[in-house]
Amino acid sequence: MNQKRKKILYIEDDPDARALMGDIIRHQGYIYVEAGRGLEGIRLAKQHKPDLILVDLMLPDMQGSEVTTHLKSLPELKNTPIIALTGATQKNVREYVLAAGCDGYISKPINVNEFIFKLEEFLAGKRESVPPEFEKEFLQRYNLELVQRLKRKVTELESLNENLSRLNTDLIASREELARYNDLLFYLNSLANYLRTLNDPQKLLDVLPEKIVEGLQVERCVLFRHDPEKKIITPCSSYGNFNGKLREVELPFSKQLLKLIRGEGGLLWIKDSHQLIEDSLQKIGDFFQSSNFILSYLQELGRQDLHYSFENKEAQEEVGSHIKIDEQFVVYIDKNKNGEKFATYEIRILKSFLQSVAVIYENMQLFDQLRNLYKIKSEEAIRDGLTNVFNYRYFIRELKKEVARTKRYKTPFTLLMLDIDYFKNYNDLHGHVEGDNILKAISRLLELNTRSTDVVARYGGEEFAIILPGITKEEALPLAEKLRTLIKNYSFPDKIHSLPCKLTISIGVASCPEDSDDPIELVKMADSALYQAKQSGRDRVCVFKSEKKQTTASSKSLKK
Ligand code: GH3
Ligand code: MG
Ligand code: MG
Repeated sequence: MNQKRKKILYIEDDPDARALMGDIIRHQGYIYVEAGRGLEGIRLAKQHKPDLILVDLMLPDMQGSEVTTHLKSLPELKNTPIIALTGATQKNVREYVLAAGCDGYISKPINVNEFIFKLEEFLAGKRESVPPEFEKEFLQRYNLELVQRLKRKVTELESLNENLSRLNTDLIASREELARYNDLLFYLNSLANYLRTLNDPQKLLDVLPEKIVEGLQVERCVLFRHDPEKKIITPCSSYGNFNGKLREVELPFSKQLLKLIRGEGGLLWIKDSHQLIEDSLQKIGDFFQSSNFILSYLQELGRQDLHYSFENKEAQEEVGSHIKIDEQFVVYIDKNKNGEKFATYEIRILKSFLQSVAVIYENMQLFDQLRNLYKIKSEEAIRDGLTNVFNYRYFIRELKKEVARTKRYKTPFTLLMLDIDYFKNYNDLHGHVEGDNILKAISRLLELNTRSTDVVARYGGEEFAIILPGITKEEALPLAEKLRTLIKNYSFPDKIHSLPCKLTISIGVASCPEDSDDPIELVKMADSALYQAKQSGRDRVCVFKSEKKQTTASSKSLKK
């Protein structure tokens, strides 16, 4: 038992053969090590330094003879017996393996007793050798085979290398694409931010094609307006070279085409002419001489729930929005430069950008409508519904402001109170509707004959108030007189007598700070002057006098 147990390595790819051999060898008291491939065999041989190696000639990764040559080239293994074990039936196999460096040869299938006997012989030092007459020939054959295998390996390596360099090129391309993707994303993002700052929807429509061409480095971009009734699209802004033929063009845009674009989520990507299946799509392709383009229906990309803030056209007109609410846009983009195609990533980014544009545009529309609505509502709040001159509330506000201004800057202002004479009679004779028309006509006359900085307001009923900023009572008198004679000489329509109707007004005048620097007081004073004018016969201008002595301006001026 003090004799060291011998170790045998078996290199064989067939697991059944290995299992059988393992049993036989272990049964003989040897240590058994096995490998399923040539390279594994070499590794285990170096690690275990076996006393004998059995090698199968046909291995998946290399031939048994190659394994042998390799093992024999290692100093620590060059004396280890290597026995080829093969079922190969070619002629001169034995000579061949011996020439390759094996120390022995056992043919499969094995006879166990014979095998054990041979094994012991080889372990004891027996070596077979190739007869000299064969050696040269087999060496030549072996070398030839080696050269051929080498060649095959070189070709394999070359193709591997080719694949690697292709992979590398792909990687570089992906990296470049990623960089372009990033640049484009950044550009379009900044562009969307810029578009958001524009508060004019028209400006957005104007600049959009140019920005898209610049950012996407495409050749041409057109923004079309869609007319669903006529089923056409007409350009409203564009960028790129169209050889002047774009100007007045009308292109067909059928319901089917709209459906097609809808089916693609709002953006249709045409890659070649086979996709031009629909008639109007074909015509668009023909017009641009392109089969490599994008058609996008902007509204489809927007907020679908926003149709629309106004139920009808009247409401829209009332708000006076300069944008037509049901305006719809189609974006055309092409990239014909050197037949260059769109990349998928470009389409993805473009779509998300156009989605932002659609929403930005819708927001602008809403904002625009809101602004107009606000304007109208705030005008309505300060105007008189019948005559459209300022209302009582606004008059009082302005009066207070004017008083404050006078106190601060010491600039005077004058207040006129006007009342139509015997207006009840007019109403009784002509009816209320005609009376209303007179109120409107007089309001208009008053506005036309005062400055835009003057405040003409309806004080109530057939009574008006006019604030004349920066004007003293003295300076106001000629203007009051002018208004009085203007009305007196004006021919109002009289449907009953089919003759021009004559009307007169009475005016009371008070000034700030001359008479008072209190708004309510001032109104009372002008009103009392007006009362005075009525009392003294109507159709005249009276100025307020503090000593309760009102002066009739008309009579005064007549005296002069
Ligand atoms: P006076 O010269 O004293 O001012 O006589 P008057 O008839 O104008 O004065 P009065 O105060 O007696 O009557 C005012 C009339 O103005 C009564 C009404 O018929 C008319 N009036 C007031 N507001 C309106 C209005 O909004 N529309 C019409 N059509 N008439 C109005
Ligand atoms: Mg009156
Ligand atoms: Mg009155």
